[in-house]
Amino acid sequence: MQQTGAEQCPPSTCDSSALLLGFVNTAPLAGAMDRLAGAEDLSAWLAGTNLADADTPVTGADVAAARELRDAFTMIFRAHSGCEDGEAALPAAEDYLQRMAPRYPLAPRLSAAGCQLVPAQDGVLGAFGALFAAAADLSARGGWPRLKMCKNPTCYTGFFDKTRNSSGLYCSTACSTRMAARAYRSRAKTA
Ligand SMILES: [Zn+2]
Repeated sequence: MQQTGAEQCPPSTCDSSALLLGFVNTAPLAGAMDRLAGAEDLSAWLAGTNLADADTPVTGADVAAARELRDAFTMIFRAHSGCEDGEAALPAAEDYLQRMAPRYPLAPRLSAAGCQLVPAQDGVLGAFGALFAAAADLSARGGWPRLKMCKNPTCYTGFFDKTRNSSGLYCSTACSTRMAARAYRSRAKTA
């Protein structure tokens, strides 16, 4: 993550957004390591998010599935921030998630407090189901379009857009300042 000084990405506002942003931000951002490179990485991530116990068996196929899911979620969040590549790749990402969703079924958990969708399976499949449950939760509460990828091409960090009118394009003021300076320089060059 490319951040300067004390500037931090705005904190995500709920468990669902934290889970999904944490997931897309396992990508190799700004020269960092891919945090879903292998089975051990996926195990560590699942244990860190409490989605699965540390001794849950993880296969190479699970890692491949996790990375494909991550790509699809990333494309949707890119489309949310109006990235052209996100919009172009959106139908394929939506189609992919549509095809994958039945592998990770959710079940309603009803109580006096309300109804929540929870994974119907344990292990890695249940953990992937939790990503879909988080998306359903955010959608129901209107937060889904606020999950975005920073438009600074040296950043591309997933963030929760807290602006009043959902117009945020950058994860931090550091990124928006950098991009404004860049736009100013390119305007000055063409002028
Ligand atoms: Zn950024």
